[in-house]
Amino acid sequence: MNLVFRDQKHLWHPLTQHKISPEAIPIVKAKGSILYAEDGSQYIDGISSWYTAMYGHCNEFISGRVAAQMQNLDQVVFSGFTHEPAVKLSEELIKILPGNQQKLFFNDNGSTATEIGIKMALQYHYNQGNRRNVMLAFEEGFHGDTFGAMSVSGLSVYNGAFEEHFIEVIRIPVPLGKNNSEVISQLEMLISENDIAGFIYEPLVQGAAGMKMHNAEGLNEILNICQKNDIICVADEVMTGFGKTGKYFASDYLATKPDIICLSKALTAGLLPMGLTTCSQKIYDAFYDDKISKGLFHGHTYSANPPACAAAIAGIELLVSEEIQQNIRKVIKSHQAFDEKIKDHPKVTNRRQLGVIYAFDINLKMDRYGNLRNQLYKHFMDNGVFLRPLGNTIYILAPFTVSQTELDKIYHVIEDLLDKFL
Ligand SMILES: *Cc1c(COP(=O)(O)O)cnc(C)c1O
Repeated sequence: MNLVFRDQKHLWHPLTQHKISPEAIPIVKAKGSILYAEDGSQYIDGISSWYTAMYGHCNEFISGRVAAQMQNLDQVVFSGFTHEPAVKLSEELIKILPGNQQKLFFNDNGSTATEIGIKMALQYHYNQGNRRNVMLAFEEGFHGDTFGAMSVSGLSVYNGAFEEHFIEVIRIPVPLGKNNSEVISQLEMLISENDIAGFIYEPLVQGAAGMKMHNAEGLNEILNICQKNDIICVADEVMTGFGKTGKYFASDYLATKPDIICLSKALTAGLLPMGLTTCSQKIYDAFYDDKISKGLFHGHTYSANPPACAAAIAGIELLVSEEIQQNIRKVIKSHQAFDEKIKDHPKVTNRRQLGVIYAFDINLKMDRYGNLRNQLYKHFMDNGVFLRPLGNTIYILAPFTVSQTELDKIYHVIEDLLDKFL
């Protein structure tokens, strides 16, 4: 008993200033869209536990597959060995990835997936004797918390202690339609003045920035220009991957395909940590050589962990199933109807939706982790809905399997907030 007390003794939580943060809420169980707390409270998981548990928590189809895998092969070194779950995952994933993706490199999480994407882009040029050391990224992008990932993230508001150690990065604004031509001329100028190795971007939706969405034609043009200049395009689909945008990957909305794709989060359906960096044949070929030093000398101990691969294979099976595709269409329609309801509210602005991702901003200035933001969060939690406002942005990214009753409760709690609070 008293999990909170025991927690505080030895644990240090992520993204938490312990001196001023409220106590962590002990969760004892999760099923479907519901998180069950120790004190008997229940919360609808309106953000799928950071966009991972897209097929619902403790999904029996997935956990059954993982349990079976655990009894057969738990872990083996992936340098020099291979196994069915890794091979099968590569076959199933290649079927749904953009057509140019050919090779999969395993890792542990979203940050390492992007870290490796950056390393591939830099070494691609290095291997050919070209010194290109600059990465290009979007303003306000988020790509993770390791050094390379932090460097390219524009959202590094709390990274002051590390900034002197960052890799060299230049930034462009996201294309919003009306500013496309300015972004393109800025890009062309930057290309002429810098030795840019790669461009890393969250395609169409910038998650951590507050589910900010941008223009597909503009992004496509950026990718075209980058590829013409042999700048390696690294799509960070850690958040957008696996059906959330209404297509399997956000890159499916674009005619120009990325050279490299970074995956994690929903990859393993919320069950186990794993990341993947995939790439085209052109990237792989630049490392394929008689010289050992031209290889990618990067490796994580748990690369291609068989139970994690089993979770990913089961997740893909669900994703492509008619049932989940129907659920996705249902959630999309439901969000559209909710959007109609709140669109004229005076405090609601910048409404946006792509697939099952729905977001809007509250027309008030708020700090990212400020007081008002914390009040909104408390309102949701007090009413049994786990939504995590990003500054003044409220967003919903519930599991594909969320029920209409659960969605209606999320909507109701938001409407209640708009009417009572603001
Ligand atoms: C969450 C996220 C990451 C980092 O993933 P971790 O598993 O938390 O390291 C990277 N990129 C994007 C777009 C993300 O949403």
